Amino acid sequence: MRTAPEYLESLRERDLRLFVDGERVADPVDHPRVRPAVQAVAATYALAFHPEHRALARAQSALIDGEVNRFTHLFTEPDDLVKKIALQRILGRLTGTCFQRCVGMDGVNATFLATHGRAGKGGDGHARFVAWLSEVQRNDDMLNGAMTDPKGDRSKRPTEQPDAYLRVVERRPDGLVIRGAKVHQTGAANSHHILVMPGQALREGEEDFAIVCALPVDAPGVTMVLGRQPSDLRRGGPDAGNARFGGQECAVLFDDVFVPTERVFVDGDLEACATLVDAFSSFHRASYGGCKPGNLDVLIGAADLITREHGVRRARHVRDKLVEMTHLTETIHAIGLAASERSARHPSGVHQVDKVLANVCKHQVTRLPYEIVRLAEDLAGGAMSTIPSLADRDHPELGAQLAPVFGSDARARALRLLESMTYGAGSVPFRIECMHGAGSPEAQRIVLEREVDWDAKVARARVLAGLDDDGELSLD
Ligand SMILES: Cc1cc2nc3c(=O)[nH]c(=O)nc-3n(C[C@H](O)[C@H](O)[C@H](O)COP(=O)(O)OP(=O)(O)OC[C@H]3O[C@@H](n4cnc5c(N)ncnc54)[C@H](O)[C@@H]3O)c2cc1C
Repeated sequence: MRTAPEYLESLRERDLRLFVDGERVADPVDHPRVRPAVQAVAATYALAFHPEHRALARAQSALIDGEVNRFTHLFTEPDDLVKKIALQRILGRLTGTCFQRCVGMDGVNATFLATHGRAGKGGDGHARFVAWLSEVQRNDDMLNGAMTDPKGDRSKRPTEQPDAYLRVVERRPDGLVIRGAKVHQTGAANSHHILVMPGQALREGEEDFAIVCALPVDAPGVTMVLGRQPSDLRRGGPDAGNARFGGQECAVLFDDVFVPTERVFVDGDLEACATLVDAFSSFHRASYGGCKPGNLDVLIGAADLITREHGVRRARHVRDKLVEMTHLTETIHAIGLAASERSARHPSGVHQVDKVLANVCKHQVTRLPYEIVRLAEDLAGGAMSTIPSLADRDHPELGAQLAPVFGSDARARALRLLESMTYGAGSVPFRIECMHGAGSPEAQRIVLEREVDWDAKVARARVLAGLDDDGELSLD
């Protein structure tokens, strides 16, 4: 397993083609806009050596018959899913942001079970995937889970607008050539490999879009462009808000990239793709019951700290609002845990979360954090959006006069942290990710409508309304 410093060093060995604000960046690791996100990933490596959390952050892998970082692990034991949520909560709280390794973790599990038993449909993609994943586990690599295509006009199919989707443009005896883009890619510039997966179920005739494969982030033809975040120029400065960590999303461009056959896991198998997308979305929707409550712990902590500095912490309504924020946070966490606890074993050996509960979990994540943010903004007061820069406070001529404006250092910094998480750079991997990560709200409602056994509910209502005999419960 890699340590955090070893992870940072391994990133420097890549020849990444990364652009930030129109300029190619020579050393992403030390770039002020990239570094906080690299550090958030580094936290996942550090935890595997942390005195208190190392047992949770590690797992025993049957693939390589050795200990691995949990972020590269398959959910082969029923409690792996629950441990995942527990680990995500800890990392969400320690970093206050997205630590970027969950899409890869949920992606490898979805790919493992979707390719299982599909040998013969395009060769043994499962065996090739297992060989690749074993290498990932041995090296403790960081993965960019690449699903979302630009999609263009959402009412059109991929074949009607191929440029809006990643696709195979050439099949060679020794591999495939892929072209297109993946967007909103979490932690892409901080990764070692890209795991390309389809972003949606595909239909007959769309086989060129039904591709699952892996490639190094610096494969010839791959370009990454860093996403812009509000107030991201503050990074590394006194007003950053989160002084240590940040999130990251990139647009990843594939300009006729060659992928050798040994790294192609699915090519044109529509059924395997449908299974993968379905399994991934359930895994990932439950994941939000871990990381986001962890982020919310930090948000609640910042709001609490400000009320203490303002001398209002004991006021009835303040206590009540902090309790409400906690109650909503734990509601999300409870559903994520329940979805993971109520798991079922797939024939591949990977355990799957409860699909309905996983979707309910993510659906609540698209709502409850917004109410929690509203309460935090209420408690913080207007200063979270109006105080001058901390550089002004530290100015020799202004400092003394500005002292009452800023209050204590704790107040000033807590206000900046809250500002960042609610509408600054930190709001992208926290707030907007709550809404769209793992699918927008309607995606969960579609699954719920499909998965719920409506007839069973009607049948029970009919019995208790006296319309039908009770064949289910005899009191004799
Ligand atoms: C911070 C962040 C991190 C992310 N990380 C990753 C990542 O690491 N990897 C990855 O692959 N993806 C990632 N995503 C992408 C995420 O999965 C998508 O944002 C999500 O699936 C929604 O897709 P979209 O953004 O294209 O929005 P859209 O799908 O365009 O949704 C916008 C609205 O349009 C509606 N809509 C969409 N299509 C239709 C239709 N056909 N008919 C009617 N209504 C429609 C939706 O319901 C929604 O209300 C990330 C996103 C964010 C914001």
